[in-house]
Amino acid sequence: MKTTPSSSPSSDCLFCRIVSGDIPANRIYEDELCIGFPDINPQAPIHMLIIPKRHIASAANAVADDNGLLGSLMAAASAIARNEKLSKGYRIVVNTGDDGGQTVNHLHLHLLGGRRMTWPPG
Ligand code: 5GP
Ligand code: ZN
Repeated sequence: MKTTPSSSPSSDCLFCRIVSGDIPANRIYEDELCIGFPDINPQAPIHMLIIPKRHIASAANAVADDNGLLGSLMAAASAIARNEKLSKGYRIVVNTGDDGGQTVNHLHLHLLGGRRMTWPPG
């Protein structure tokens, strides 16, 4: 079976440590494959992070075998948005790599809502 590059869980990875419970986070969502919790430095009234339990370094490391997991992340974001009553809309962001502004090297979706978003993003 093909494996995702950089797929080893790491005690050095902040989000792996949140998954393991080593670092606390308020799990507002959890299923078999992913968890969701509030961003520590919110950029909107609602700002949640959705991450896979398995370590994938970034969207740039995703392969076809990850399709189910990637779909689950999107479905989780959608479920959280419904739960948070973001009926007027919201934004899902996946910062990827240095130019993309990624600071934590464990794949994550940002779910931002509760205010009007602007375009283009900075
Ligand atoms: P990135 O910049 O990689 O797209 O997003 C990383 C996000 O993780 C940032 O928005 C940052 O505020 C958030 N973050 C960093 N450390 C922690 C933490 O310990 N707990 C939580 N809940 N969020 C964190
Ligand atoms: Zn990780």
